[in-house]
Amino acid sequence: MSLREGSPVNTPRHPFRLNLGFLLPQDIGSHHDFPFEFEHLEFDESLSLDHFDGNLIVSRTPQGLLLQGNFSADTELQCVRCLKNYTHRLSWEMTELYVFKRENVDEDNHQLPFNAEIDIEEFVREDAQLDIPINPVCREDCQGLCQICGADLNLGDCGHREEADDDDIPLNSPFAGLKDLR
Ligand SMILES: [Zn+2]
Ligand SMILES: [Zn+2]
Repeated sequence: MSLREGSPVNTPRHPFRLNLGFLLPQDIGSHHDFPFEFEHLEFDESLSLDHFDGNLIVSRTPQGLLLQGNFSADTELQCVRCLKNYTHRLSWEMTELYVFKRENVDEDNHQLPFNAEIDIEEFVREDAQLDIPINPVCREDCQGLCQICGADLNLGDCGHREEADDDDIPLNSPFAGLKDLR
């Protein structure tokens, strides 16, 4: 087993692979920081991240190694209101416990490999994806598109807004009479 101290092995193929063997003989409670910084990361077609930044703290516990990370990165999303692409800052945390003994493995933790080499790429990818909003908006007050002419209402009023409101209930609808009550 080769013990590589310090920073992660930042090869492009495995940017999140860590050799944690050097932590095993250390006292319980000792820990080590692994900072991560990447201009651009391409996981697969579904996820690409820019300005990736974060830190992982690996701590020696009685059962094994505890990994606690804080990460953030930019990703490009499409606003559901105005349909424009925009840059969204994701930020997420991860906590994973790797245990020495097979009998201590359960659904909440993992078996520490014999060589203490761990690749957290899968966690990073999954946790980043979980932070992507289901209905992304470019900004809280995005006005969206006009339902009549399709104009971007963030750029100005196309004049259809009141008309669209008035036409909420078509005249031939059985509820048309309700309009007079409002
Ligand atoms: Zn928008
Ligand atoms: Zn319009």
